[in-house]
Amino acid sequence: MTFLELAKAAMPGATDAEVDYALWNHTPFPFDPSPRTLFKKLSGYHRACANGRQLCETCSRIAVAGKWNCQWCLDALANSASQ
Ligand SMILES: [Zn+2]
Repeated sequence: MTFLELAKAAMPGATDAEVDYALWNHTPFPFDPSPRTLFKKLSGYHRACANGRQLCETCSRIAVAGKWNCQWCLDALANSASQ
């Protein structure tokens, strides 16, 4: 099974561009290319999108509505900026 076949199984109905985006932005690929980790991360991303949720661009937690990051990352960025 290739990476693309695994990703298509984790994200049924997704286009190649959607799979490519999720693979590079919401998985530890290529640093942890284990099939189990990739399938778990990709299916989680696909499930979040299907439920109308956006994932944090930094850590892949659920993002705050209208923001690119989750509350944890927003707090960390605010704390680092104030120091
Ligand atoms: Zn985050």
